[in-house]
Amino acid sequence: MAWWFNRVLWQRVLAALILGVIVGLAFRTFGGTYMLDGVTKYAGADIVTTWVKPFGDAFVRLIKMLVVPLVFTTLVTGVISMGHPSKLGSIGGRAFALYICTTLAAVSIGLAFGVVFKPGSGVDFTDVVPNVLAGEAPGFTQILLNIIPDNPVNALASGNMLSIIFFAILIGVAILMVGKKSQPVADFFNSFVEIIFKITNWVMELAPFGVFALITWVTAVKGVETFSSVLILALALYLGCMVHIFLVYGGLIKLVLRLPLIRFFRGILDAQVVAFSTSTSAGTLPVTIYCVQSNLGVKPVIAGSVLPLGATINMDGTSLYLGLLAIFAANAFGIDLSWTDYALIALTATLASIGTASIPSASLFMLAIVLPTIGVSAEQTALMVGFILPFDRPLDMMRTLTNVTGDAAVATAVAKWEGELDEETFRKVATV
Ligand code: ASP
Repeated sequence: MAWWFNRVLWQRVLAALILGVIVGLAFRTFGGTYMLDGVTKYAGADIVTTWVKPFGDAFVRLIKMLVVPLVFTTLVTGVISMGHPSKLGSIGGRAFALYICTTLAAVSIGLAFGVVFKPGSGVDFTDVVPNVLAGEAPGFTQILLNIIPDNPVNALASGNMLSIIFFAILIGVAILMVGKKSQPVADFFNSFVEIIFKITNWVMELAPFGVFALITWVTAVKGVETFSSVLILALALYLGCMVHIFLVYGGLIKLVLRLPLIRFFRGILDAQVVAFSTSTSAGTLPVTIYCVQSNLGVKPVIAGSVLPLGATINMDGTSLYLGLLAIFAANAFGIDLSWTDYALIALTATLASIGTASIPSASLFMLAIVLPTIGVSAEQTALMVGFILPFDRPLDMMRTLTNVTGDAAVATAVAKWEGELDEETFRKVATV
């Protein structure tokens, strides 16, 4: 027991990830197979789905349970702690500029890797069942209008992140403006955020078990064959994301901010592994907030605003993937791409990634925005989604990890520039 608790969390979480892969593969390999409707099924995967996956689901529900209270209270207390609301503008401006820059870098890397790896060449769509995309996306004006909640309780209940951010900022600013009379409410929020943080702390202790259960399940059900079916695409995505993480975020942390890179990656490893195992950056949000505040020393005002906003609109792994998929479609359907096409893909993929929901496989459904710009028809897009969807999970895991790493990197940068980074915490060497 002491051996377990003496290890820092990231080591336990990482061990759980590796163990999950081994156990998942063991169940898949040695559990036996049977046929159902002409399809080979894995008995070991069924056992894992019934007995192991529920533990992973419980963990995901526990983190999701914390999203709304944590985001709301961290943001309100963050604004209160600023002392003056004018700072919000510069935080938002800097965060937004960085989101756009990193996303454009990501989509460019995706396009470059697409050109080199040529995913989609020679793909045969004959047996594919088309997957028709969901209805119309809301217009730009509607998206902006939706930020203002017509009922804040509804916004909180449905987890509408942008509306929650909007309302929390208003409450925080009003508390500052009212002054002395609002002190009891300010005290309430300051105390409530401590309580939610305590619960987050408990849930984090369960992370190794949740990660183990989720990874065992993904490996037992999908196996490594899933990778081989879309091998070139998977390879390009994994390598592209790694290059983006080390070059763009690494460059930002090490060269621009002059902070120790190893500390950054060590500090956010728990969030990365949880993102990897759950495939949802919105679901990972409490863990990201927790890691960035406790391990990297980012103050609540930044963690509470930049991270929820980032989880909603900053998705570099997703934009990189959309760039790759556009090249995949061009190769599969024999479309020659000009420089203008590449620029159009970069632009639409950036916009689409901003609008992508932070839930599993959400980016595939954004292809409807990107692909028409290069002349891919709606039917062809449906075919592509139908082809990739069954193999998407292992790809989603990597892009969600990248999305979350990007949010943490931007939060660290904005915190440093705003003087809201406790560098002593950031530089503290982990005890084990
Ligand atoms: N699953 C990703 C996320 O939650 C979105 C996507 O690329 O599908 O960040």
